Amino acid sequence: MSAPLRHYNFSAGPAVLPESVLEEAGRNLMSLGDTGVGIMEHSHRGKPFVAIIERAEALIRKIANVPDGYSVLFLQGGASLQFAMCPMNFLPDGGTADYLMTGSWSKKAGKEAKLFGKVHTACSSEATNFDRIPSPAETTYSDDPAYVHFTSNNTIFGTQFPTEPTPPGDAFLVCDASSDIFSRPVDVSKYGLLYAGAQKNLGPSGVTLAILRNDLLERKCREVPAMLDYKTYVEGQSLYNTPPTFGIYVLMLVLEWIEKEGGLSAIGERNEAKATKLYDYLDSSKLFKPTAAKGSRSLMNVCFVTGNEETDAAFIKYADERGLKTLKGHRSVGGMRASLYNAFPPAGVDKLIEAMQEFESTHAA
Ligand SMILES: *Cc1c(COP(=O)(O)O)cnc(C)c1O
Repeated sequence: MSAPLRHYNFSAGPAVLPESVLEEAGRNLMSLGDTGVGIMEHSHRGKPFVAIIERAEALIRKIANVPDGYSVLFLQGGASLQFAMCPMNFLPDGGTADYLMTGSWSKKAGKEAKLFGKVHTACSSEATNFDRIPSPAETTYSDDPAYVHFTSNNTIFGTQFPTEPTPPGDAFLVCDASSDIFSRPVDVSKYGLLYAGAQKNLGPSGVTLAILRNDLLERKCREVPAMLDYKTYVEGQSLYNTPPTFGIYVLMLVLEWIEKEGGLSAIGERNEAKATKLYDYLDSSKLFKPTAAKGSRSLMNVCFVTGNEETDAAFIKYADERGLKTLKGHRSVGGMRASLYNAFPPAGVDKLIEAMQEFESTHAA
């Protein structure tokens, strides 16, 4: 059987996965190893699956150097449920949480928090259509926030925090890292809660990873249903109810791949090289312009425009015909977005730049 056709997939999520992971997962659909039962058909209480979830957790602890005193949780409901679950557990009635508003996802997170307490906007770049990350000097915290929430990478607008903000006083840091989780080294000890939907950098849709500092369980501020209580997952080791078993399995394979590639520092260097090459080209181009401000540019989602919607559409079609897929930008920015997650191959960046150069030579104003 010949290898199936694989395009360069610039999708923002669900997104490209390592081919070795897809092949391995495919081989285990009919029978996980020599168990005679496919990976999707195993009980979540059986030995083979318990070994998988334990290995996934161990790999996360190793790859991200997770300190003692933190739990690694596999949840459902996507990052969007974390928008609600975090304040439901940790934002008391009448209390305040501070949100750094750097894009649509932070706004959505803040909106959910308002159902439970007060939300203070510590900074916002909305006035310039979220084209940058406000500096610490432009960030003002409230007096005594329960926690500080930020979105480390703004998938839609193509901006990324260079380093994490420092919360004031006793507040803990909460991060939605859905689109840059494990794309570079991370100091977990700076976070109280770090969460990410898996479908951008870690695996298939349906699993949400959360890393939670255990002492925060004592700050739970109201009774919540079991399925929305972090404690349920900490105590039940994410096996209180049926977890997304297949997703956790693929996540484990992706973690094995990250480790084989040299871990987060090697992955981070490669991501930086891929994105820098593309930004360098964009900075030199007469036709294409990046939309994110220098100093705030995302290494994961590179957004760019020609300044003319028809030309954008023509380029997207031109690229599509050359096997460069899903380059259309989000409607709130327009233009193009090239998502260059961990598994996106460097050769695809070269192909994209080649196509842009060719297109530019025939379409430049
Ligand atoms: C994609 C994305 C989300 C939404 O994730 P779901 O898993 O669909 O809920 C939230 N935040 C960020 C930063 C994202 O990129």
